[in-house]
Amino acid sequence: MANRRLTFRLYPTKVQKEKLFLGRKLHQLLYNACVAHRRFEWRKNRSNVDYFTQQNALPGFRQQWSDYQQLNLSSLQATVKRVDLAYNAFFKGIRKRPKFKSIKNYSGWTYPDGRQGFKVQIECSQKYAVNCGWVTLNDLGMRLRMRGRFKYWGKPTTCTIVYRPHQDEWYASFSIKTSEPKRLFGSKSPLDYESMVAFDLGCETALTCYDGYGFDSISNPRFDREFAPKIQQASRQLKRKQRPIKGKQKASSRWKKAKRKISKLKAKQSAVRQDWQHKVTTDIASCYDIVVTEKLNVKGMTRKAKTGKRKKQKAGLNRSVLDVGFGTLNQMALYKILGKGGLHITIDTRRVKPSQRCPSCGTVHKEWAQLSNRYHVCDDCGFEVPRDQGSVMVMWNVAAYRQPGLGTGLVNRRCSSSTDSTRKHTGSMKQLGQVKRSKSQSADFVDGDLETPSVYTAG
Ligand SMILES: [Zn+2]
Repeated sequence: MANRRLTFRLYPTKVQKEKLFLGRKLHQLLYNACVAHRRFEWRKNRSNVDYFTQQNALPGFRQQWSDYQQLNLSSLQATVKRVDLAYNAFFKGIRKRPKFKSIKNYSGWTYPDGRQGFKVQIECSQKYAVNCGWVTLNDLGMRLRMRGRFKYWGKPTTCTIVYRPHQDEWYASFSIKTSEPKRLFGSKSPLDYESMVAFDLGCETALTCYDGYGFDSISNPRFDREFAPKIQQASRQLKRKQRPIKGKQKASSRWKKAKRKISKLKAKQSAVRQDWQHKVTTDIASCYDIVVTEKLNVKGMTRKAKTGKRKKQKAGLNRSVLDVGFGTLNQMALYKILGKGGLHITIDTRRVKPSQRCPSCGTVHKEWAQLSNRYHVCDDCGFEVPRDQGSVMVMWNVAAYRQPGLGTGLVNRRCSSSTDSTRKHTGSMKQLGQVKRSKSQSADFVDGDLETPSVYTAG
């Protein structure tokens, strides 16, 4: 069983649009009401309101405000849950204190239950490409036309309605349960576990691959170089227009137009980036059956430099890291490989030290850790290799049991397949269900990893 998220564009009629806007407004007001409730209780009684208190107050709330009676109860609960998630993230120190949301920033709402609330009909499905269909929202009483292109379809478990204000477009995003991994790419069969590739993400070369025979590198496409000047110019134009000031003046129509231009440019940039990411990862997934990567820490990589000279330099580095979208790239490669039944192996960076280890003899060189050290020459065996290529070679060697200087067996090297996540427990709907279940069964609930265990077992 694999979970996937598929997003369809919706095509509402004028009347349907009005209803959608009403639904969004009601959910926004509910969200703000929940935030206000929590703030009030804290200020007055120094007590924390939890999710269940607010959830149990919903029926009474609905009786008071008759507009909410038409809306699906579980979707209202999901909105209350959003507030709870935001507060939990705040308590864990991941985010700032939740704010009241203006309707401009309010995206939409969710139907968390696949059995009620919404119904999906998929039309004209070709062999693997689903093209269009209908989604019925029971509570708003309408059937919406939708379009999207996907290679698979399954049982929808949740549906999220999203509005993107700058494009003035509506979307329906489903999470789908697919029954079994299907081969989506390539025609090689059966799976060949000999074909293994290690890849590493970098800044100058976005991607360096090693498959045991040779290297391949993909240079950083630097989308920001193409788009940043245009966005900059558009923002300069925006500054000259009459901007909205709360309670004083409305935005001029030229300001709105300029604003729309900027968001269009940004949307274009992200579309171009996504297209590139899909092409690169599909390419990898179609050629190889095992992918080896190291655990990467994008947050750490893009941390702000605090002082002095390095500030600007680090900002530039961060931009180029974020521009490629390392996190997404990694995830895409992972789900595509797993989707076709392949394996994904993560190397423990701290234990293996791919960037400091000589691929030929296994000696660890501490001075190789510095990023300025672009070309590595081993003192012990004389092996020469460029930095990025050396580290992917080590990673590949480790996964293939061929790295000298390390014990045999993946277990010894603490490798793991990368579905184990380091996500903190913030009490999502899924996690909440787990808490409830384990409470009723026994008291020993283990906080933390609730993801399904990996396909890969070492040894
Ligand atoms: Zn060496």
